[in-house]
Amino acid sequence: MVKYERSSLSGGDDVFEEDPSSQTHAANNGSAANATNNSSATHTPTGKMEVASNAPPEVRFKHLKGKGVNETKWKGQSVSVKLWWERSTLERILLVVCLLLLLTVVIVAIVLATTRKQEFCLTEACITVASSLLMSMDKGADPCDDFYEYSCGTWDKHNPLPEGNNRWSTFGLLWQENRLVLKNVLESELNTTSSAELKAQDFFISCMDEDSIIEKLGAKPLLDIINLQLGGWNATGTFNTSTYDFNQTIRVLGTSYSEQPFFSLFIAGDDKNSSRNILQIAQSGLLLPDSSYLINKTEEDPVLGAYIKMMVTIAKLMGAEEEDAHRQMRAVLQFGQDIANISVRDTNTEDQDPEMLYHLKTITDLQGIMPAIDWLSYLQFLFNGTDIEITKDEPIVVYAPDFLQDMSNLILSSDPIVVHNYMIWRLVTSLMNLLSAAFRQADHDFDQVLSGKRSIPAKWRFCVSDTDASVGFALGALFVKHAFEGHSKAKADEMVDEVKSAFKRNLPDLPWMDEDTRVAAKQKANAIIDLIGFPDYILNPEKLDASYAELELNSSEYFMNNIRVLQFHVKRQLQQLRKTVDRGQWEMTPPQVNAYYAPQKNEIVFPAGILQAPFYDKDYPKSLNFGGMGVVMGHEITHAFDDAGREYDKNGNLYQWWNNDTIQRFNRQTECMVDQYSEYDILGNKVNGRRTLGENIADNGGLKSAYHAYLEWIREHGEEQLLPALGLNHKQLFFLGFAQVWCSTSTPQAARLQLLTDEHTPPRYRVIGTLSNSEEFAEQFKCPVGSPMNPKDKCEVW
Ligand SMILES: [Zn+2]
Repeated sequence: MVKYERSSLSGGDDVFEEDPSSQTHAANNGSAANATNNSSATHTPTGKMEVASNAPPEVRFKHLKGKGVNETKWKGQSVSVKLWWERSTLERILLVVCLLLLLTVVIVAIVLATTRKQEFCLTEACITVASSLLMSMDKGADPCDDFYEYSCGTWDKHNPLPEGNNRWSTFGLLWQENRLVLKNVLESELNTTSSAELKAQDFFISCMDEDSIIEKLGAKPLLDIINLQLGGWNATGTFNTSTYDFNQTIRVLGTSYSEQPFFSLFIAGDDKNSSRNILQIAQSGLLLPDSSYLINKTEEDPVLGAYIKMMVTIAKLMGAEEEDAHRQMRAVLQFGQDIANISVRDTNTEDQDPEMLYHLKTITDLQGIMPAIDWLSYLQFLFNGTDIEITKDEPIVVYAPDFLQDMSNLILSSDPIVVHNYMIWRLVTSLMNLLSAAFRQADHDFDQVLSGKRSIPAKWRFCVSDTDASVGFALGALFVKHAFEGHSKAKADEMVDEVKSAFKRNLPDLPWMDEDTRVAAKQKANAIIDLIGFPDYILNPEKLDASYAELELNSSEYFMNNIRVLQFHVKRQLQQLRKTVDRGQWEMTPPQVNAYYAPQKNEIVFPAGILQAPFYDKDYPKSLNFGGMGVVMGHEITHAFDDAGREYDKNGNLYQWWNNDTIQRFNRQTECMVDQYSEYDILGNKVNGRRTLGENIADNGGLKSAYHAYLEWIREHGEEQLLPALGLNHKQLFFLGFAQVWCSTSTPQAARLQLLTDEHTPPRYRVIGTLSNSEEFAEQFKCPVGSPMNPKDKCEVW
């Protein structure tokens, strides 16, 4: 819900679809002392780097010419002419033959030298990676027709959807490997003194539930909460209207269970003063992932029909009578549809524009906007137990005030029993996966219709993901110790510098930018902080343990462990309010296969989980490392300058640092991309070019920066040895490596779900969209102008 806080690399559904909490818990207050990266700005203003590829042959030619033929001729011209005519015809012929022989030797030597340069890399890593690249390709496809097909055409044959998945990709494969590493660690005896690491293991054991404690408890843990703390549930006949207190219910839900049915309240950096944290409130989530599943739909619709079926099944499992379950759940669903009708859809630019969304208010103002809730008492209850005092003058950033106002009217005009039923249903859906198998089966049956997921994933996969979502930095310590090579951090740091320099070198070539903005953009790029691998504190047992000191976990209470984790993270977030923004705080755990840019911190983050093959490997050719990890880095750097990111200055403040003419010209460039991507479709459904704009800008800018960084690398280090069997040079391999990061497959339902909800373009078009804008790609694959991968009109933003 923290919508503008960060832009990640991948939607991640394929990566974290088994994560039951679906929320990324805020990171710990550790001190990732990854120094700022204000690398020296040594760049030439040309940006034209293609000349680098010709450098080695040119040098050899010059050498031959300078020291050979010319020099001899100059020194002894008159003497040699005289000697020539004193020779007999035979001698002259022999001399010519000798000279010819000498010339042949020289030519052969040159050819041999050239061949040695070009010979194949036959190390284990080169052979393995060449074979892995080949395995996914469809060499029968024309790269100029459809480069995704050429690169990934046979990928899904070797990588069918695994059990329990509705999408599968390179990201998913690597996440699967990371989870296997963690499974092996968590199932062995931990040789550690760190209490936090032992807590991670306890959490995992409680989830695996070898003694079937979860099964024996059935619905009881959740029923206890509802009946003892929330006034019961009318659907199950335990609701007492005479003692019902709406505000008390909503306070307990928010404080103890992090459940906010009618709004989304959080603490994060202030967009207009990036050093301070501030309360922020946005619209609530919906019953289904996108409002289009709810608006103007009836139970005849397959998804809505499956949803009501799941509601009834769960209500009955909780103790409801058949008739009550149907009637009351229908009313809850109707109320959920009413909320969808007033929700704001972010399909046009204004809705995504952070500047337009930002409204700085006080609690008194919020009370006026949303009078259905007693805000001061809500917040004071929430902060009870911390030393933070909240008054009616507390500032709060209000997003979507119209929604909050409509929501308030809807609550006040609806039947209080339906409103209460809805609140409890929201709690039930967020916790039901922690209950017995019957609950998880009902959820799965619904998911099968919504996303096409065919089976429930293996328990251990679910449990590793859940441990990551709950105590991810303790788990991250185990991951880093068992799977992360120490030198990768320094190598990645160096690579970020190289890609960032390439991004800056390109700035003078952008015709739409004025000189002042260019200078400021360079400053912003210099100010980007990068966090790589993991926060340092997790490898210091004392600091790691201190960060989890307030969290009690054990190996037998899975449900309660989750409740304690929820409360622990709520409290930790509340404690941030009076603190300055911590730039070392990570919002992704170390094992994750993803990356992000945080505009309020002007910070890019690359967890250890992604710094591995196929994104990066120290023994891989650099072409593949730049095409994989380099593009990821370029993507996150470019986010600092996408349609939303560009509104934040180098310190992370929302502030207009561009002049109006440049903004207008920038918007014209971006409109080109909106139109381009809106043309793409998956199974008859169009991509939303506007919602995906920020990600598409990042993809295009990232590809270009990484490619130029690679060209610079060649210029400094020379050409690399070829990979066997592929028949491609390294510049071509750069593009192939990039494309293969996006090899993927999904069910038709999951593809539709992604089009509706994900801010990223579907993988196929992340490849086609970016490469068809690249002159350099077209040049390397000799694609004729006008071929699908080399259209005459191209889009360029960065
Ligand atoms: Zn992104």
